[in-house]
Amino acid sequence: MSDLFQEQLQALRAQSLHRKLREIGSAQGPEIEIVGRQLANFSSNDYLGLANDPLLRKAATVAIKKFGVGAGASRLVSGTQSPHVALENALTKWKRTPAALVFSSGYAAAVGTLPALASKHDVIILDKLSHASLIDGARLSGATIRVFPHNHLGKLESHLEWAQRELPEARLIVVTESVFSMDGDQAPLGELVELKKRFDAVLVLDEAHAIGVLGPNGRGLAAELGLEREVDVQLGTLSKALGVSGGYICGSRALIDWLINRARSFIFSTAPPPALAAAATAAIEFLASAEGENRRLLLWKRIVRLHAELPAAEAAKGTANSAIVPWIVGDEQRALDLARALQGEGLLVPAIRYPTVAKGAARLRITVSAAHTDAQIAQLGGALRRLTATGYGWDAAEPRKSGVGT
Ligand SMILES: *Cc1c(COP(=O)(O)O)cnc(C)c1O
Repeated sequence: MSDLFQEQLQALRAQSLHRKLREIGSAQGPEIEIVGRQLANFSSNDYLGLANDPLLRKAATVAIKKFGVGAGASRLVSGTQSPHVALENALTKWKRTPAALVFSSGYAAAVGTLPALASKHDVIILDKLSHASLIDGARLSGATIRVFPHNHLGKLESHLEWAQRELPEARLIVVTESVFSMDGDQAPLGELVELKKRFDAVLVLDEAHAIGVLGPNGRGLAAELGLEREVDVQLGTLSKALGVSGGYICGSRALIDWLINRARSFIFSTAPPPALAAAATAAIEFLASAEGENRRLLLWKRIVRLHAELPAAEAAKGTANSAIVPWIVGDEQRALDLARALQGEGLLVPAIRYPTVAKGAARLRITVSAAHTDAQIAQLGGALRRLTATGYGWDAAEPRKSGVGT
């Protein structure tokens, strides 16, 4: 048995696809410690620098004093404690939806919700670059799955036409992200809403990387575009810009009631620790405050600064849509080499490879936070420009592969 794994692991190494864990000896933040060395951290989704914020730490500590550490049981058995209720109230107020439900992670929210929405008689249509949790949730549902090339509205439309024609009784569910996790670009939400209305489909929008970044008080892309009411199922996570842990669904009361009764990752899993619920509530209240909005605007200053620091070829690729900048190099080993070179300069920028992105679409994924200093961003920019100039980056003449539509 162990030989079998050795062989498989060797195959991964041969393709530069082997992954290993690295131990971080410090709290999360713009600077972290790896094996005794300080690195500027451009790898985290802690976009607002809340993961180690005193406000959140205090909320968690106060809750531990009263509620201890474990939730003891599933929410439906005896695990719903006051911090869980307070968190869902804070979510409904902030997101302006009638109801909300918290899961132990964003992953759990996705794999619990999609099978509750669709059965084998239904059709789920996903953007090609949808997060693994959405794909897994769609598969678990047993529904017919169709995938459209990234942000390709024409292909989505033809899938919807096909489903309406061939499976007139089926519920049609369109699933996409508002900000794509590995590319940092946005979905054309206005057009998606038009389509979903025309075909009477249910729209599930994963706002994992838009929350805290886009929209008034960080309410996400739907809020930025005034389309919150048009999105039937708003999915998000408490573990990225909100700095804590857990996932949520916001939507109608009937939707939430249905999920309480049908979402297996909610029903058959112990409730999140009450202290984490309390910390997440503090994060939401912060985001909803004027101070939180200032933090979000500070993040945008950092994003603009980072774009100004990029090598010219990257900067020319477009405007900043999020806190994520993909530096697509294609070859897996090249991405690893670049990440290693940056680490040598005191910069943590992760190489992202298959299966997180398509084969041959490996990249460095740079994420910026409100907590970064201009000096840290300038240091990263200097290193990226130097690597590009010395040919460590891709060769501009070489065709660049992309994960889009493949
Ligand atoms: C991270 C992520 C999730 C999962 O959220 P967790 O809270 O980390 O489990 C879901 N969807 C997208 C798009 C993500 O990037």
